[in-house]
Amino acid sequence: MSGLIYLDHAATTACDPKVVQAMLPWFSEAYGNPSTMYSIGAAAAKAVRHAREQIAQTLGACPEEIFFTSGGTESDNWALKGIAQSLAAKGHHLITTKIEHPAVLESCAFLEKNGYEITYLDVDSRGQISLSQLEEAIRPDTILISVMYANNEIGTVEPVRQIAETAHRHGVLFHTDAVQAYGQIPISAAEDGIDLLSASGHKFYGPKGIGFLYIRKGIAMERFMHGGSQERGRRAGTENVPGIVGIGMAAELAGASLEIRMQKERKLQKYLAENIMREIADVTVNGPEPGSGERLPGNLNLCFAGVRAETAMIMLDMQGVCASAGSACTSGSLTPSHVLTAIGCSAEDAQCSLRFSIGQENTQQEMDRVVQVIGNAAEKIRNR
Ligand SMILES: *Cc1c(COP(=O)(O)O)cnc(C)c1O
Repeated sequence: MSGLIYLDHAATTACDPKVVQAMLPWFSEAYGNPSTMYSIGAAAAKAVRHAREQIAQTLGACPEEIFFTSGGTESDNWALKGIAQSLAAKGHHLITTKIEHPAVLESCAFLEKNGYEITYLDVDSRGQISLSQLEEAIRPDTILISVMYANNEIGTVEPVRQIAETAHRHGVLFHTDAVQAYGQIPISAAEDGIDLLSASGHKFYGPKGIGFLYIRKGIAMERFMHGGSQERGRRAGTENVPGIVGIGMAAELAGASLEIRMQKERKLQKYLAENIMREIADVTVNGPEPGSGERLPGNLNLCFAGVRAETAMIMLDMQGVCASAGSACTSGSLTPSHVLTAIGCSAEDAQCSLRFSIGQENTQQEMDRVVQVIGNAAEKIRNR
């Protein structure tokens, strides 16, 4: 769409044209099933192997530690339910946070209905958990700690390395939902001490409906899908070959452009925040300071006092600007965001907050236009 200013990259991203190019042959000419022995099957198996290597490379992981799934939601479900099942004999207690994505929170709710106990950690006003509270929450029957790498609404980056270190000191496994962080900031599974990591293709310029779960070598894990022996017997079903080729290419591209994109997005993030706050009265930042390392480079979440986000979003849309009022997964419901509530926002302020998530194709001119459009919208709504 021409003239569209897309600032909702945390909801989804467009496929990079190079990703689409890489995927195309695998729909038609090269349609073999990777489990077959003849040449077009073997070619597909080789392409899947290559994608696994591309992803492993970006994480400092081994290809055998990457398992393809249908996306972030499946990866989160598998990590939580899989560990809950495989470690049931050790205990029935898991620790997570109040600001996780619904894919984690709803998996936890399901486990609670099935005899598991969950501790939901609080976060501070910037959205970070406390390591001492984490340590206090660990019990002899704790089997998993699941803390997101970075939050999808306010962009807070959690102290993942210290969380992993704390978990391991107590012999507990650590899972991280890295769907927002992977491809946006540097992640090393080995150096960070991560046992399980979820990621999703469509959040880093790859296709929708494909993701992966990193499972550190040696971790026993109940399978998520029962059936054939694909994914080394751990996730049955004929591989989504075009999707896998696409996510592999997207991972390689993201790895190669990471530093440049981070710099560019952080600059635009600061620029947009500073200009909005200079031009519009009564605007406050939700979450860590824009431009700081505690925040994802592309995320900006602002509260416009007295400006209903849903109304503002529709006015922005009419001017060709895409932003988000709450996360896509919770919008449509009238309850204020659980993330903003957890960092201490009032229900009123939470409902007056907009998320702008910047991506690789955005420009400074676009930011200027957004400041103007949001300024006009805020003024109209406030003067009603
Ligand atoms: C988008 C998102 C998910 C879900 O991923 P899908 O691939 O859309 O299922 C999970 N966690 C976080 C933090 C996300 O941003």
